[in-house]
Amino acid sequence: MEFGQSLRKVGPGLKTAVVTGGASGIGRAVAERLRKDGLQVAVIDLSPTDDGFGHIADVTDRAQVDNAVAAIREQFGPILVLVNAAGVEGFQKFSKMSFPEWSKVIDVNLNGVFHTIQAVLPDMVEAGWGRIVNISSSSTHSGQPFMAHYVAAKSAVNGLTKSLALEYGPAGITVNAVPPGFVDTPMLRSAESRHLLGGTVEDHINRTPVRRVGRPEDIAAACSFFVSDEASYITGQILGVNGGRNT
Ligand code: NAP
Repeated sequence: MEFGQSLRKVGPGLKTAVVTGGASGIGRAVAERLRKDGLQVAVIDLSPTDDGFGHIADVTDRAQVDNAVAAIREQFGPILVLVNAAGVEGFQKFSKMSFPEWSKVIDVNLNGVFHTIQAVLPDMVEAGWGRIVNISSSSTHSGQPFMAHYVAAKSAVNGLTKSLALEYGPAGITVNAVPPGFVDTPMLRSAESRHLLGGTVEDHINRTPVRRVGRPEDIAAACSFFVSDEASYITGQILGVNGGRNT
């Protein structure tokens, strides 16, 4: 049997997707895009969504993740698509970084991905079909001063992505990552207003080959492709969506 033809129990009906961080920014655009693509989309986030499909849960808390996943499964059936977009940034000189500061950023950006993937994998394995996309960061390409914890966590997410692609490819599950460049979201504007970007968003646009800031929809488009049936031969890949600027 060819890879991608291992679909055992997935019929033509709506596939259920979970998007973490789907109440804001990139996650919200991913949720909207996957809905337009015809998926049944539920969101896991600390904040509520406007659409009634949001489940408030902290991705660092396994019991909360398991409860949210159980509720979504109960309502919509097995979860076959997962996009991990929940994340927090952090800015601190490394010598001044407290261990709690380090741990919080690692916990949300890396351990949260561990929890959500483990929580939904049984559905994908049972179906013999699944799609996982992890939103990492373009800062993983070359590092970022004052963001050692964030870059460490996001780099680990890229590594996790590649390893799980090898481990679950035979089960019909693809695992890919999208490291975004500068994307205009509340997270980016909050960093700009605190003067943490090393310049304004405009300055960054001038250093970006396509001369614009990323839109959440740019990331959503990449996710849409990765989770499609057509992308069944693509796994373990890290697809930069960054306007040509790999920093
Ligand atoms: P955003 O607008 O701040 O959205 C992040 C969402 O994740 C928020 O709704 C937030 O909820 C939620 N969240 C945070 N911690 C959580 C937790 N422990 N459990 C559940 N949900 C949690 O940020 P964004 O810019 O869209 O970022 C989305 C992803 O892209 C993140 O992983 C980020 O690291 C990555 N990224 C963004 C950029 C960029 O330029 N924007 C660049 C590279 C990578 P609250 O608001 O309630 O805290």
